[in-house]
Amino acid sequence: MCVKNEVRSAAGAVGHNTVGSRKDAIRLFFLIKKEIRLAFSPFSEGNEARTPAEVFAIRPEGGPNTPGWRVRVVPDKYPVLGIEGDIEVHRDGASEWREGVGIHEVVVESADAAKDLADLSAIQASDVFRACQARILDLRRDRRLRYLLVFKNHGVEAGSTIAHSHTQIIGLPITPITVRQELTASRKHFEKEQSCLFCNHLSSELSSGARIVCQNEHFLVYCPFASRFPFKMTVCPVAHSHDFAEAGDDLMVSFGEIMQEALVRLRKTLKDPPYNFCPSHGTERRVGTTPKRALGVT
Ligand SMILES: [Zn+2]
Repeated sequence: MCVKNEVRSAAGAVGHNTVGSRKDAIRLFFLIKKEIRLAFSPFSEGNEARTPAEVFAIRPEGGPNTPGWRVRVVPDKYPVLGIEGDIEVHRDGASEWREGVGIHEVVVESADAAKDLADLSAIQASDVFRACQARILDLRRDRRLRYLLVFKNHGVEAGSTIAHSHTQIIGLPITPITVRQELTASRKHFEKEQSCLFCNHLSSELSSGARIVCQNEHFLVYCPFASRFPFKMTVCPVAHSHDFAEAGDDLMVSFGEIMQEALVRLRKTLKDPPYNFCPSHGTERRVGTTPKRALGVT
């Protein structure tokens, strides 16, 4: 038998402290830790003054930094990169360095602290990615930024420090080496085969069918043949598309649907594992979802 104690913060956020017959002490510890943190979420509706001023929101009602929003984007209060500075490379003898210039923003996925991305409706999930899309389009105007990274850490073991479900955007003044390698491989493949590397992968996955997780009109979810981790999933557009930010409304709704389905399947299969996902754009609009359980972290 389980007993649920409702925990309500002064700002109105609700968490549940569940105690009873659970046997997994480590998991229970994380559940309690998470639920206590939920009760004090600075991201909850009504706590807008506890975050930096919003830079974007999808809100049916109310003005900026007030309740009434569905998705809200704010600068990270403790950013890993600072907005001020230059991107010049400085030299110190044989060493080189540059200032930690960039952007770090948080996309709060729901006003409800108790909901994870997998709990949201497909429309609400697509709102989250639409907010990411809007921020990418805006941040691209900052010529100092060379790469915009969208990612999510779900669960403490995956690196999440705030339990209220959120995605992050980081703008970097350099292109990460893994992205450069992917771009180089794609270009070489195209020069040799006159075809898109990712579309070729998609065709072979569709004809094999062995690794398909789910699909809809616009997207396919599959476990890559050469996965770095067990249970890794890739979400790939069915028709060639190289830019996440330029996807139209119909694709974004479809993307929200397929992401929601993939995350629900992941949660059911592995009992809500910690995971990371990272939409990769600039090469092909794909999303890799990597459960941390695959690394044996939990
Ligand atoms: Zn393609």
